[in-house]
Amino acid sequence: MAYIRASTVRDLRKKMYLKILRLPLSFFTDARKGDLMTRISNDVQEVEISVVASLTMIFRDPITVLVFVIWLFINSYQLTLFALILLPLSGWLIGRVSRTLRSSSMMGQQKLGRLLSVVEETLSGLRIIKGFNAEKKMKEQFGAVNDQYSKILKRVFRKAYLASPLSEVLSSIVVILILFVGGSLALKGSGNLNSQMLIAFVLVFSQIIPPIKNITTAWFNIQKGLGSIDRLEQVLGAEEKIQEKPDALPIKEFIDSIEFRGVWYAYNSEPVLKDINLKIKKGQTVAIVGKSGAGKSTLADLIPRFIDVDRGSVLIDGKDVRDLKMADLRYLMGIVSQHPILFNTTFLENIAFGMDVPELEKVKNAAGIANANDFIMDTENGYDDNVGESGNKLSGGQRQRISIARAIMANPPILILDEATSALDTESERLVQDAILKLMKNRTSLIIAHRLSTIQHADLIVVLDDGMIVESGTHTELMNIKDGFYAKLHSFQAI
Ligand code: ADP
Repeated sequence: MAYIRASTVRDLRKKMYLKILRLPLSFFTDARKGDLMTRISNDVQEVEISVVASLTMIFRDPITVLVFVIWLFINSYQLTLFALILLPLSGWLIGRVSRTLRSSSMMGQQKLGRLLSVVEETLSGLRIIKGFNAEKKMKEQFGAVNDQYSKILKRVFRKAYLASPLSEVLSSIVVILILFVGGSLALKGSGNLNSQMLIAFVLVFSQIIPPIKNITTAWFNIQKGLGSIDRLEQVLGAEEKIQEKPDALPIKEFIDSIEFRGVWYAYNSEPVLKDINLKIKKGQTVAIVGKSGAGKSTLADLIPRFIDVDRGSVLIDGKDVRDLKMADLRYLMGIVSQHPILFNTTFLENIAFGMDVPELEKVKNAAGIANANDFIMDTENGYDDNVGESGNKLSGGQRQRISIARAIMANPPILILDEATSALDTESERLVQDAILKLMKNRTSLIIAHRLSTIQHADLIVVLDDGMIVESGTHTELMNIKDGFYAKLHSFQAI
């Protein structure tokens, strides 16, 4: 039992975790983190309990019951038959009570997920909650969900606890009836039943009651577990929209170009990218500019296949990205985003992220190029110092330089920079900008830029508006278009 319990939990959690790693990013914009956490912790636990229950139900108790029933049958078949007639009736009653348990249990787990989501959001948003005096509102929100959860839980417990007394009452009734009927038979002296035999019969019969009680409780636990299995299934069965083809082609080198050919994309019904045609040659720096919400990040997400086009294609060296091996494709590119993502571990592991055996010298070199070496060396333990939860011990600029060092370390031929400096003050921007320029050297880069000053030297500037390319050219060319989008954006920023 110990082995089965422990392995069930391990295997299920592993399956869930691997699925989370495989699911497309879009899955997590809809799902709540707390809900997923509940599924991987509590729901798995519920399933474990229900597996144990079913083992008890299938193997241990039925054998006991069977042995006793055979003995009873041999000694007084009339009385045994009479007792067995009552069985379906009891089964029906138990079934009725337990029927709604599964859905109640599922609802309870759902509410627990909602509860954890609130806790998760509170933990990550404490600064804002305190700053905006929103403690009261959060308290109420938590209180409401907590109460709803408790209400459902009460319903679940009430039903689950009913299992034991229910079977006890039912079996007592059966014993009373057996005493009555058996007593009458014994007094009449029919069959082989005499008074001693009747006492023995009742004694043995009463031994059947505990295992039957166990079976009923197990049945109720299984019903509860089934609700959790449904919830695990929802995640395990979720569609992996972005999948590698079985005959995917390898790609080890970036040789010629990245091309968008007639690309359309929509998150919902409204297209966010409309007929995008764009070619980025090897070695070029291409900047995408445009208003917020124009579709710049969406365009960039298509290259590493975080999302797939609805129509048209994205080609690398003439090959559709959907035909390539996913890991190969992603090895080709480094991503530095607006919000640097750091893990709660050392500088060393953050910079050498995803590598098996990081070499300190190489990491130091990368950090040096990213203007990060100095402040890392100033910390107590240098490269072995911890960056804190999501890098909270560092300033925004420092975090960004670590994420640039990570990209330098990975040494990809293609770079995707998503507004990497827009969240920074001027001083850190200078350091980060300098790091970015060094990172971009000899690489092909796609830069999403808010501040036009940072991309004036780009080989090609593409202006995106409402999902369409409205202008493209060099800085000088675009500035010369009278009343052009770029010229207007530029004059706004100059002010
Ligand atoms: P930009 O990077 O230019 O600011 P985005 O590419 O982020 O623009 O977004 C383009 C449009 O797509 C916006 O209108 C935005 O609301 C919408 N959008 C972005 N991400 C999602 C998403 N995950 N689900 C639904 N709509 C989205």
